[in-house]
Amino acid sequence: RQAQYRALRDRPCVTKDGCAVALMINAGLTIDLPHIEETGAAGVGLFRTELQFMVADALPRTNEQYSLYRAVLDAAGKKPVTFRTLDIGGDKVLPYMRNIDEENPALGWRAIRLGLDRPGLLRSQVRALLRAAGGRELRLMFPMVAVVEEFDKAKELVELELTHLRRHGHMLPERVHVGTMLEVPSLLFQLDELLERVDFLSVGSNDLMQFLYAADRGNTRVSDRFDPLSTPVLRALKDVIDKAKKHNKPVALCGELASQPIGALALAILGFRQMSLSPSAVGPVKAMLLELDCRKGEKEILPLLEQPIGSVSIRHKLESFAAAE
Ligand code: PEP
Ligand code: MG
Repeated sequence: RQAQYRALRDRPCVTKDGCAVALMINAGLTIDLPHIEETGAAGVGLFRTELQFMVADALPRTNEQYSLYRAVLDAAGKKPVTFRTLDIGGDKVLPYMRNIDEENPALGWRAIRLGLDRPGLLRSQVRALLRAAGGRELRLMFPMVAVVEEFDKAKELVELELTHLRRHGHMLPERVHVGTMLEVPSLLFQLDELLERVDFLSVGSNDLMQFLYAADRGNTRVSDRFDPLSTPVLRALKDVIDKAKKHNKPVALCGELASQPIGALALAILGFRQMSLSPSAVGPVKAMLLELDCRKGEKEILPLLEQPIGSVSIRHKLESFAAAE
């Protein structure tokens, strides 16, 4: 199997009926970087910047952040990298930061909420990113955005830092693409407003599932109870794809759903053309997509989402479709 997947490394990921799907990898530390080459991925779809902060003994200085971001961009070469700004709080704790006691940390003071309340931290990170990408393209996105105003405020910080760097004569990125994670369900009902503002979206299926089903992602007793391959979830994702098309904005998915071949199959059928996976999943997912007839999948699977819900999960239907392929 491993040898078979390695043989696919340089094969473009195109379905049997000609739909190109960009497979990227999720990363977060220097040790992940060789995976870009090894997997033949199209880029890094999610760079989790908080990992550097989580493994450090003290808050990494701006120049330490800068060095890591440069190393990532160097390793990726011409391939795109999407950096996510700090996603700390919730299950991601920094041992050297005072921990506030929260009854529901996943719903608490975390990610962009913390970033906007402590703009010094977010601004120093954004500065490090902008400087690291001097002369190149920068793609950055914010975690846990729940309302469009948070995106506006975070983007304003990026503009402020750009102005600051320009005034000090630093080399600026060739282009800055600013997007957001879509992982808080409230954004599903602000899609038009959101898509007018962002350069791209990336669905975080891990948190989106947790919040849609109100089921703790770290507690298998409840998280395994609800299938992501189910009508409510797939309807929501289909809506995201349709609206993104209408606004002509790219949308990717970077949660674990894309790392399972059957999940990636469902996503490709829904219309996702960019997915970011665990590096070890690139081979198996590519092998499956190469065998997929996307249009046939659309005809067979999409109507199921229109029908009144009988059994919520449609995993069995997807599996029998995949087996017949
Ligand atoms: C997600 O929530 O799906 C995601 C990709 O981010 P993380 O797993 O880091 O929360
Ligand atoms: Mg998340």
